[in-house]
Amino acid sequence: MTQEATRTGVVALVGSREDVHIQDVARRLGAEGVDSVIVDTLTFPDETRMSLTEGLDGILVDGRAVGRPAAAYLRGLHSHPLAFMVDAEEAMAEDWRTTLTAFREKGTLLLGLIGRWEQLGVPLYNPPSADWLLHKPVQLSALKAAGLPVPRTLWTNDAEAVRRFAASGRVAYKPVMGGAATRELLPEDLTDERLAALAAAPVTFQELLPGEDLRVYVLDGEIIASLRIVTSALDFRQNEERIEQMVLPDEVARQCVKACEVLGLRWTGLDLKRGLDGELKFLELNGSPMFLGFDAAAGTDVAGHFARALVRHARR
Ligand code: ADP
Ligand code: MG
Ligand code: MG
Repeated sequence: MTQEATRTGVVALVGSREDVHIQDVARRLGAEGVDSVIVDTLTFPDETRMSLTEGLDGILVDGRAVGRPAAAYLRGLHSHPLAFMVDAEEAMAEDWRTTLTAFREKGTLLLGLIGRWEQLGVPLYNPPSADWLLHKPVQLSALKAAGLPVPRTLWTNDAEAVRRFAASGRVAYKPVMGGAATRELLPEDLTDERLAALAAAPVTFQELLPGEDLRVYVLDGEIIASLRIVTSALDFRQNEERIEQMVLPDEVARQCVKACEVLGLRWTGLDLKRGLDGELKFLELNGSPMFLGFDAAAGTDVAGHFARALVRHARR
């Protein structure tokens, strides 16, 4: 069979059936008469059955030939005990080594599956080839190298380096990976005892940006939503007071689209924050941004834009 013959016209949704973003996109595709298949990566391998043969498009999910889909939404692989929605606490407590090994096996198969789609030229939201560039210590430096404004940042486990960095003004600190609160680095954090924690894991130290928070969505090279988060807290997730739509200055809009290109993303939710000098700086681009909360709060239509992009691929 040729690869052309195995085009299925279906849109693959990779993530959990229980994930509201997967559910929302599936519903919107259904309403447009577009066939979708959920590759349920949360219930794989205990429930979802998956078989891959040596052919690039030899892909069977729950008995259905998925082959070469028209496009794929990669929401999440759920392939780590710490991943979103995964509950592996009991299994890890019982036998962490076997559990971690099983997760690694699962993850390897799923990455292989997605790698096949990339090889076949399936439009992937987002392509796995961008993954390595998303790790923040390379992401921000890639943006900077492309001439985009990023905050002064230090990723380190070196206490002396932190003390030197802290001498130059207000500093925020946060995890290297993200996903936990950002705090201001205070003088009491610079003691030997406190900095000894760096022996357990490196941390991100960053010029503290006191100004407004923006969230911008870029899809296929276009801005589809720009929001301002009005809050008094340092980390907006702790204290969202109001989220409103805004119009980006042309220069910033161009920078957002460029940032997306630099990292090889088909779509993203960008976090920007304004510095003391008034300049907007890039905090990060997310490879699988949530959008339903922002749509609900601000009246944007990221969900609609995203689903329509998938529909267009399915009708091609
Ligand atoms: P995550 O991946 O956890 O979302 P971010 O870099 O986007 O990581 O940081 C989360 C939030 O914390 C930001 O949206 C912002 O509100 C706040 N924050 C992060 N870095 C800084 C900083 N350098 N100065 C001030 N606030 C920051
Ligand atoms: Mg963020
Ligand atoms: Mg993030």
